[in-house]
Amino acid sequence: MAAYDLAVVGAGILGLAHALAAARRGKKVIVIDRDAQANGASVRNFGFVTVSGQQAGDCWKLARRARDVWAEVARAAGIEVLLRGLVLAARHPESEAVIDAFLRTEMGEGCRKLTAHEAQAHVPQLRTDAAKVALYSPHEIRVESREAIPRLTRWLAEEWGVAFRFGEAVKAVAPPVIETASGTIDAETAIVCPGDDFVSLFPERISRYQPTRCKLQMLRVVPAMPVSFRTAVMSDLGLGRYLGYCELPEAESLKKRLDAEQAEARANGVHLIVTQSADGSFVVGDSHHYAPTPDPFGSTEVDNLILEEFDRVLDLPGRAVRERWIGTYASAPDRWRFTDRPSEDVRIVVVTAGCGASTAFGIGEETIADLFGPGGAA
Ligand SMILES: Cc1cc2nc3c(=O)[nH]c(=O)nc-3n(C[C@H](O)[C@H](O)[C@H](O)COP(=O)(O)OP(=O)(O)OC[C@H]3O[C@@H](n4cnc5c(N)ncnc54)[C@H](O)[C@@H]3O)c2cc1C
Repeated sequence: MAAYDLAVVGAGILGLAHALAAARRGKKVIVIDRDAQANGASVRNFGFVTVSGQQAGDCWKLARRARDVWAEVARAAGIEVLLRGLVLAARHPESEAVIDAFLRTEMGEGCRKLTAHEAQAHVPQLRTDAAKVALYSPHEIRVESREAIPRLTRWLAEEWGVAFRFGEAVKAVAPPVIETASGTIDAETAIVCPGDDFVSLFPERISRYQPTRCKLQMLRVVPAMPVSFRTAVMSDLGLGRYLGYCELPEAESLKKRLDAEQAEARANGVHLIVTQSADGSFVVGDSHHYAPTPDPFGSTEVDNLILEEFDRVLDLPGRAVRERWIGTYASAPDRWRFTDRPSEDVRIVVVTAGCGASTAFGIGEETIADLFGPGGAA
């Protein structure tokens, strides 16, 4: 009998989600990561578990499930949920048409349209002229990823008996033998969650999905005076970018207007997400640039486009930028994720869009049911 039922490659959110789903089924699990601690997209993102705005269909459905698992796990693992819900401030009449259309879909359930005044009850510093109306969604939660991911890792080890090996690159996966830089691990099955590494394991299979990378610029902004937001904040640019909104037919005129009036922001894939942290600072982003190997350099012009939208929407004079960083995630031309099956006992799972934090727990349950058969928790 192998030492482990399952070896998971990658200790990002996708790897951890698979480890949890398997452990809940009573499986003996080991997670292996080449870095000393998770350092990829999963700790560089907003920690914004987003439901509204995800693409209609399985993405939106898995995000709803994943949000519920996040809420359970956060409670059990002592991860603080810092914000709940979203206020998407809309200044253009074309945006109101998108909000109205969204509210008529099944995805609008539980969401509603707010006046500027009502929106300010959630986000007091919202500029009135930036929110002629706003979309309110109660579905989102926000955690601090750089703290939540290590805490989730510890909890999986302590409460679920998941073994972790960090600083150990996996070189080959052929159960029952998992070959690492330090030796071999004995596991019946394996799930490879490599994030945006398309070359270390199964490169010939991953290349069939024509993956590339998306580079994002992120900022931590500190307000001059203490302020308190109850929800995350987005703006018209988000309606023009998140597929759950911008694929609605009613979004065509908004996209034309944004392309004409904010051409630079649109060309750089800029939209606004603002999430507040426990110390009162904000994680603010972001931009999107696609390349097989994106350059590692942060552009001041791109940061300024993000900050211009921040200032257009929020009245926070004297705010300062305290931190800047870059993240990358996997991207593919025609899909938001893939699960590949190199053999009966191996799966490769990659989220190829910016929604892995919001969907991983749902995907993890799906893969484990596929690999071990449907069934409840052990
Ligand atoms: C700036 C930014 C903002 C984002 N915002 C959001 C958001 O608001 N909401 C949302 O839902 N998503 C967001 N995302 C996307 C989300 O973060 C990703 O989809 C998700 O983190 C991907 O998780 P992962 O586990 O697949 O990848 P990663 O977190 O990159 O983890 C992959 C891990 O695999 C390991 N690995 C790879 N190959 C090997 C090997 N051969 N051996 C050992 N280890 C290996 C790596 O070391 C790494 O730790 C954002 C991403 C970024 C970068």
